[in-house]
Amino acid sequence: MTYVIPEVGISYELEYFERYKAGIRVTFSPAEGKFNVKADSRIPVTEVDKFMRSKAPLFVKWLNKNETKKELTLPSDSRSTTFKNKLLKRCMDLMNDYDGPRADQYKISYSKTYWGRCSADKVISISAYCYYLTDDQLFYVLMHEHAHLTHMHHKPAFWNLVELYCPNQKTLRYELKGYTLK
Ligand SMILES: [Zn+2]
Repeated sequence: MTYVIPEVGISYELEYFERYKAGIRVTFSPAEGKFNVKADSRIPVTEVDKFMRSKAPLFVKWLNKNETKKELTLPSDSRSTTFKNKLLKRCMDLMNDYDGPRADQYKISYSKTYWGRCSADKVISISAYCYYLTDDQLFYVLMHEHAHLTHMHHKPAFWNLVELYCPNQKTLRYELKGYTLK
């Protein structure tokens, strides 16, 4: 079973064993960037989760040392109108069933520091790098920015709205942390 700690961008595979003497044991495979956890079957999942969270700073170091992030480079035609229109159309198609507030304008940007941005004058910019995202990931980016049309902050009310639009937002946020934009 795979578990995710979205706040720090870590996922781990948990395997239970009867009378496992080590209690909880964590190993890391750099090639896959994956944490494997073996635990005694008497330790509840919530305790394992607590343990993993307490060690998170160490695990993040292990991850970064091995640079398991996937690098994305824009395709050569990314500045063309065709590319931009195609990406915008994909965004609009994904939002077919979305009936919340809409932006006044949608743009493609070339930022390497954000996937999407929503300005106070209701302009939503989508980074050209979103081209590489899966539909689910791109949908999360879109719902994140559209939630900013209601809440211009990242307080709990904002995240509750994102979760309403996109119930698996935590997993998707974690997945997005696995990319570096070049
Ligand atoms: Zn935001």
